[in-house]
Amino acid sequence: MEIDQRKCVACSNCVPICPMGAIYVDPARNRATINPDECVECFTCHRGMSKEHLNPTLVRMIRGFLKLLRVRFEPEPDVCPTDALAPQDLAWPRVVRRVFSDPLVPHESTGVHGRGTEEVKTNDVTGRVSQGEAGFTIEFGRPGVGIRFRDLEKMTRALASLPIAFEKRNPVSSLMSDLTTGALREDILNEKVLSAILELKTTLEYVPQILRVVQEVACTLETIVSIGVSTRCNAQGDSQLEPLLGREGYVVCRGKTNLGLGRRPAVPDA
Ligand code: SF4
Ligand code: SF4
Repeated sequence: MEIDQRKCVACSNCVPICPMGAIYVDPARNRATINPDECVECFTCHRGMSKEHLNPTLVRMIRGFLKLLRVRFEPEPDVCPTDALAPQDLAWPRVVRRVFSDPLVPHESTGVHGRGTEEVKTNDVTGRVSQGEAGFTIEFGRPGVGIRFRDLEKMTRALASLPIAFEKRNPVSSLMSDLTTGALREDILNEKVLSAILELKTTLEYVPQILRVVQEVACTLETIVSIGVSTRCNAQGDSQLEPLLGREGYVVCRGKTNLGLGRRPAVPDA
C-alpha cells in the first residue's frame, strides 16, 4: 500500500484505521506516509475508508485558509477526501504479507481465505485428529500486533524437535523449506503479517511437553501467542485430554462443535 503524495491532504483520517500503526503524517512534508516495513498489506485502509474525489489543491487551500482563521476543516472520519490510498501490485515475497493479512485473499496452498485451514472444526468429517491424539492450533499476532516469520520460525524450529507432525495443508507449513526441522524459507523471514496460525498433531502423552515449549518460546517473542488443543472423544463423549490439561493448570471448556450433519462420516466410530 502507498499513499499518493500528490493527492494526500494530510487530514490524518487513515492513521487510526491501520491496525499496525504503519501510517503517520510526516510533519516535514505535511503528507501521510506508510512505513513499508510495518505495513502488512491487509488493505484495511483502502477497503475500510470511503473515498471522495475532491481536488487536493483546493482542499489544501481551504484547509490552509481556515487554519489562519483558527477554524478546522476536517472530512468525515471514515473518508479519504482525495482517494489518495494507492494499492500496489505485490511481488514475491511481499505478497505473502497480503495472503496472511487480508481475509479476502485465498491462500494458494489451501484455497481457504485467510491464514489457516478448517483446523479441527470439521474433524468429525475430516478425521484429522483421532482418539489418543491431540491437534494443536497456535496463533500468532492477534489482535493487532502482527508477527514476522523470523520470530515464528523460533517456534517452528523448537517444536520440530519434538514428536509432532505439522499439518501439511496449513499455510505456514507450506512455507517451510524442511518440515523435519521447522525451517522456513529464507526469503520470507523478514516479512511481517497481521497474524498466522500453525497447526500440528501429536499423541496425548506429549501434550504437556508441547505446552511448555510453546510457553517458553512465546516468552521470547514480541507478539501475542494463543494456543488451542483438541482431541477426539470416545463414544461416551469423554477424553483423556481434559484431566491432562487440568494438571497443567489450564481451565478446560468445550467449545465449538460442528456436527457435520448430513455428511458421511470419514471414520467408522463417528
Ligand atoms: S485519509 Fe487520505 S488525504 Fe487523509 S491523510 Fe490519509 S491518505 Fe491523506
Ligand atoms: S494496508 Fe493495512 S497495514 Fe498497510 S497501511 Fe493499510 S491498514 Fe496499515
